[in-house]
Amino acid sequence: VEKLQELFPGLPRSVVIKADVIRKGVRYTPNLLAIGKWAVPQVHYIFEWDHQDLHSKSDAAEGWITVPGVFQLGDGTTAILKLDNTSPYEIRNAGDARYWLYCDDDPVEEVYFEPRPEWFAKRTRDGTLMCKVAASPGRNCIFAITLLGHCEYFNTGEQCVFCCLVPTADKFRQLGIEKAVRAKADQVLEVYETVLREHPIAHVNLTGGGLKDLRKEAELYVGFLRAVMDRLPAGDEVPWLVIPQALDEESQKRIHEAGRGKGFLCHPIEGWDERHFEVMAPGKAKYVGRRNWLAALERAVGIFGRGRVVTNVVGGLEMAPPHGFGSYAEGMKATVEYFEWCFQRGIVPSYLFWTSAPGSVYAEVEPPPTEYMLSATLEFLERQRKYRLPFPACVCHKCRAVSVESDIMRLVPEYRLLPDGTSLYAYA
Ligand code: SF4
Repeated sequence: VEKLQELFPGLPRSVVIKADVIRKGVRYTPNLLAIGKWAVPQVHYIFEWDHQDLHSKSDAAEGWITVPGVFQLGDGTTAILKLDNTSPYEIRNAGDARYWLYCDDDPVEEVYFEPRPEWFAKRTRDGTLMCKVAASPGRNCIFAITLLGHCEYFNTGEQCVFCCLVPTADKFRQLGIEKAVRAKADQVLEVYETVLREHPIAHVNLTGGGLKDLRKEAELYVGFLRAVMDRLPAGDEVPWLVIPQALDEESQKRIHEAGRGKGFLCHPIEGWDERHFEVMAPGKAKYVGRRNWLAALERAVGIFGRGRVVTNVVGGLEMAPPHGFGSYAEGMKATVEYFEWCFQRGIVPSYLFWTSAPGSVYAEVEPPPTEYMLSATLEFLERQRKYRLPFPACVCHKCRAVSVESDIMRLVPEYRLLPDGTSLYAYA
């Protein structure tokens, strides 16, 4: 942490710690099981986020793994807790219900855990545990809906190389945490209203696995949005991020119309460079294609508006051997090209830190070091200022589990505010 802080003196210590904890994970210790009994637990709403699959039935409750999903640092920075027994990091009890993050035997920082909201353990009218219908890392944050808990690319070995959606669902089933493959609008609305009675919701995420028939995939999103939007509580203005694959113009327009003006659209491209896109996302490359993907992103800005279209690359995957770039300089050059291409067109280019996930094709491949990810984040922030494109209100720092750009904007005014006082970040 001290070395990283020397390399990035302008970044808050909490951001440096969060970035390194994302990259290296946290060791699995009995302390975590004790905290997991009352804190916001791991629910893995779509992917397994841990680096290693360390769970057994004894850790599993009916709807979650009895390990905390996140922890907070003193300035409110939220870090995801990814289990990894090779990590130097560990959380220790400091007595009096206080906890510290340790790096080997050195105390790094005091950490905090948010108590589990009550709605996690409530049930819908048909008896389903509410945290199986929607997920969240805590209060006043995301309400995450997995519309489709399966991806057809896994059926034919064409899944994205970093993705563990189907292995995660299989593992959860083995642990006795069965979830519905398709989200049901009635259940989701019931949970949404229950959550709002307990705490605010900052934004909603609607995503799921891919279908080879893109019209069918679009139909799923449109049908769900139509079934839900008109039945939300009166005056509800919570923004929605809708995340399908790249769709044709008619489908994009239908999603926009069904979202009643609250929608942001994300078509995650996953890998930027043409050659890498094919290797990293073979299903998307075959059934959509990079050219169509880029065209869909550009077109979506005309439908949803500047700053309301998002894409994503899995940051660091561009360096993964054997297909990745040979030097960090080349990787960073391609990453900057990605940022520039998107910002010039009014598209927000996400850069989420890749860490190898159990069950994914690249489960055993090492991601690049933390400093590479932080350097890429600073390139993003520099270009965001250059193009004056606000960070979308459909994403906040609390749920930004695998990146730190929103933490930096929240904590460092020079990255958040333009010279004329315009703020680039809504949740500061
Ligand atoms: S499209 Fe790719 S990232 Fe999305 S669920 Fe399927 S394999 Fe995973």
